[in-house]
Parts: sequence; structure tokens; C-alpha cells
Amino acid sequence: MLCREGRGSTRRGSHLVMSEPNEQASVGDVFKPGQKVRASGIYKCDSGCGHSYSTNVKGHTFPPMDDGCSGQGWKLESKTPAGD
Ligand SMILES: [Zn+2]
Repeated sequence: MLCREGRGSTRRGSHLVMSEPNEQASVGDVFKPGQKVRASGIYKCDSGCGHSYSTNVKGHTFPPMDDGCSGQGWKLESKTPAGD
């Protein structure tokens, strides 16, 4: 049975939580340049050569890897709270 009724979603207006189940990221996830930033935090290139990128803005896109960087993407090192 795949059909499930979405009960329990109360909508009160005063307490609106912005939760986007498909827009999350976990430490260790790797994102390609040009992908949308899903979580604010500190990212490092996955080749381990030391390049890092930090953002506190969700919805930005990841920058291209540096010249000479052998990494394929940005790996989430640690998350930081957004909007602080
Ligand atoms: Zn690098």
C-alpha cells in the first residue's frame, strides 16, 4: 500500500515552519559546482587539497573548483545555522 493520507499537517499561519524534505544536506554530502546550495555551512573540495567554501545563504550555487584542483565537488564539512 503506497497510498498514504497526509494527516497531521496543521496549518496555523502563526507558526510556519519552512521545511523542504528534498532540500536538505548532511555532513559528508558532495555537491557539484553549479548545484544549488541546500545547507549553509563550510564546504571543502573533495580531493582534500584544502580549498574551502563557506556560505550562509541557501539557494546560491556552488562555485567552480579552483584552477588546478583535482576535486569533483564540494563536500559539506559542517553545517552552520542560516541567517545568523
Ligand atoms: Zn581543491
